[in-house]
Amino acid sequence: MSWQSPIAPGISWYQETVAERPEYPALDGSRQTSVAIIGGGFTGLQAAYHLAKSGVSVTLIEGCRIGDGASGRNGGQLGTGQRSYPDEIEEELGFERSKALFDLAENAKKYLFDFADEHGIDMDYLPGQLNVSHKASYEREYRQSVEAIVTRYGYPHMSFMDGKETAERAGSKRFFCGTRDTGTGHIHPLKLLIGLAKAAKDAGAGIFEMTPAKSIRQTAGKTLIETPTGTISADRVLIATNAYIENLEPVTAAHVMPIHSFIGATVPLDRFPEVIPGSEALADSRFVVRYWRKTRDGRLLFGGREAYTADAPRDISSHIRRQIAEIYPQLRDIEITHAWGGCVGITMPRKPFAREVMPGVMSIGGYSGHGVMLSNYCGKLYADSITGKTGELDLLKDLKVPPFPGGAKFRSPLLFLALTWFALRDKF
Ligand SMILES: Cc1cc2nc3c(=O)[nH]c(=O)nc-3n(C[C@H](O)[C@H](O)[C@H](O)COP(=O)(O)OP(=O)(O)OC[C@H]3O[C@@H](n4cnc5c(N)ncnc54)[C@H](O)[C@@H]3O)c2cc1C
Repeated sequence: MSWQSPIAPGISWYQETVAERPEYPALDGSRQTSVAIIGGGFTGLQAAYHLAKSGVSVTLIEGCRIGDGASGRNGGQLGTGQRSYPDEIEEELGFERSKALFDLAENAKKYLFDFADEHGIDMDYLPGQLNVSHKASYEREYRQSVEAIVTRYGYPHMSFMDGKETAERAGSKRFFCGTRDTGTGHIHPLKLLIGLAKAAKDAGAGIFEMTPAKSIRQTAGKTLIETPTGTISADRVLIATNAYIENLEPVTAAHVMPIHSFIGATVPLDRFPEVIPGSEALADSRFVVRYWRKTRDGRLLFGGREAYTADAPRDISSHIRRQIAEIYPQLRDIEITHAWGGCVGITMPRKPFAREVMPGVMSIGGYSGHGVMLSNYCGKLYADSITGKTGELDLLKDLKVPPFPGGAKFRSPLLFLALTWFALRDKF
């Protein structure tokens, strides 16, 4: 029987296309550990893998099943660099820091490929990423960004696409121009996550599913994490809950806000070879970004609709189908076999959040829709910071990420108003 994530709607196509989804036991009694990790997505599991591999005792608890959070249900697009174009980051932080952040993301990309290779994980990788503009007025910005990335950031894989090339590669005349990135691509994220969990377990990490952290408190130099089936006493803690933090820890909750995003998978598009003939991943220029890609078996995976309230829409498919038809009118009646959602963790400036929120308690998340490659690497960097291998995580710790305004009570309604306003602007 298909497993329904308790924290996200719908059964994903990913879940139905993995050969096995191993189960891990729930925590059974109290225990002591050097490092406790809360959250079994890419961030938490990568940290657990590297700590265990270095001989550090590590216990990871996941409130649901591994794969129920964003890491097992996302769009699978790796991207390049940070969420914003480097020239935008440069305006705020200067060239040196912007370049260092770009390089960190390139390291993250390389790391991910190496990790998958080393562990024999076939993550259905397909190369190519197109960013396409839904407004003619963005052409100058697109050209400038490509110029900056190629010449000053030393990344030769990016090129500008005029309207004709964009239409041919997207298979749609809906866009005015775009960028083409041949140095990145897209993956089946749940395959990666399952392989990662196995690698962490094999390296010696204690991994427990269906074990939610209920509270975190500190006493006598230890951090105590209460769960329904035992207390974990740890020297250090990593909070890796990303968008699903709720009220577990107030500093993270004030900085990382959940936004619901929804994806639909169609039947294979054998009758429509003109749709993304190169099987790349695409994302458009809307504030409420639409992102889509072709899978290895020729399906369209289309993500777009966002919701800023806790309620999931009753019918995800018809909304997604409408968005697909705006771009590909010939697919207006296409069958959507799977539709699902999940929570993206965003921060105010759309930069990752990495901060010590209590002594010895680090919180990392808020990748703002750009976490597939970054979260994997950040988990590794957290482990490296404990074992003294690199200080690369400091680059992210130094970023200015203010809390959302409005405090615990008002930040959701304020965010709802602000995002609805920006979403409206997409239409004009
Ligand atoms: C629909 C969707 C599409 C996306 N598309 C893309 C994309 O194409 N490209 C991209 O780069 N990024 C994308 N993202 C974002 C990306 O998936 C995330 O940035 C990344 O997976 C974050 O990983 P994580 O480990 O930090 O968090 P998660 O994978 O969300 O893991 C957090 C885990 O913590 C657990 N947890 C929460 N509270 C507790 C608790 N109290 N006790 C124990 N466990 C707890 C949760 O159950 C969850 O499993 C998308 C996200 C979504 C939802």
